[in-house]
Amino acid sequence: MHGKKILVTGGTGQVARPVAEALARDNEVWCLGRFGDPAAREALEQAGARTVVWDMGDGALPDLPGDFTHVLHSAVHRGDGRDFERTARVNSVGTARLMTHCAGAEGFLHVSSGVVYHRDEPTHRYREDDPLGGAVPWLPTYPVAKLSAEGVVRGLSEALGLPSVIARLNIAYGPYGHGGVPMILFRQMREGRPAAVPHRGQNYCNLLHTDDLVRQVPLLWQVARTPARVVNWGGDEEVGVTDLLEYMSALTGVPLRLERSDRSRETAVFDHEVRRGLIGDCTVGWEAGIARTLGELFEEYRDRVDAHRATAPEGGRHAQSH
Ligand code: NDP
Repeated sequence: MHGKKILVTGGTGQVARPVAEALARDNEVWCLGRFGDPAAREALEQAGARTVVWDMGDGALPDLPGDFTHVLHSAVHRGDGRDFERTARVNSVGTARLMTHCAGAEGFLHVSSGVVYHRDEPTHRYREDDPLGGAVPWLPTYPVAKLSAEGVVRGLSEALGLPSVIARLNIAYGPYGHGGVPMILFRQMREGRPAAVPHRGQNYCNLLHTDDLVRQVPLLWQVARTPARVVNWGGDEEVGVTDLLEYMSALTGVPLRLERSDRSRETAVFDHEVRRGLIGDCTVGWEAGIARTLGELFEEYRDRVDAHRATAPEGGRHAQSH
């Protein structure tokens, strides 16, 4: 994209920061947030983005231009697991203020999550029209945050005539922030902590590398419409979480201890038909992407990982299923 005026929320986060930095090269990018991490704010500004303080929970937007062409709304207040009322209000009112201010934009991209789906069997491939409800035992307010914001996006997309996309993200990972769920799991392995896995089989997910995510944001804006379009957003491959852990252990030599239990974090796999039809396939295979990310985030394993990367294909095995 060139010469557009783009408003980003959640720009200090793992998902939106690489997008904001990439877009700031050729566009006017404004990032809103609380900027509790001054280093992330500085990095955004160094990349050419403007930063303005806004807390979604605090009320009106700061003084901003009114002519943004595109909005990436990635900020989320996930809640503390008990503050349902506040979680619903912060996310829905924040989203409403943003959409109202940017009513004339060409595209509004709201980053939602697979946590909105009513839980089905572990092997179920969630489709966009599947039952909603969500269930996140370790953070029950999170699906409420995402569902309430989705409702606002649907409502204001139609009421304001603002072309919108609700992209339900699977698991994003890459060299930004904490690196995403795979790198959180790797850090636990490094600390010698056991990895909780289910009693039978394994959990599956669709890992989406930052490179694909950054490339796909402008494509998603292109398919924004009224009423808001809903699309599952994940990597092409179905990745077993136990396979992922074993792969990271083999790559780095860090021992893996699996703990079969009832408390493993459930993940989800998506049906990709809608996303593929709209914006096409991904380009980064999960093994190559994980190897690259480990090398980027953990210097001590870089040589081992680089030696392996020389033999691993960059592209993935498309439509691989379990
Ligand atoms: P992070 O936790 O890394 O970042 C959250 C972002 O939200 C930060 O930039 C933070 O900015 C901003 N934020 C939080 N509270 C407020 C607030 N009250 N006012 C303004 N900004 C706020 O999240 P991710 O980057 O991982 O996630 C981004 C989006 O993607 C979220 O909507 C999430 O639900 C969704 N998602 C992410 C997945 C993933 O794999 N990462 C998977 C599925 C969905 P600051 O602290 O500066 O205010």
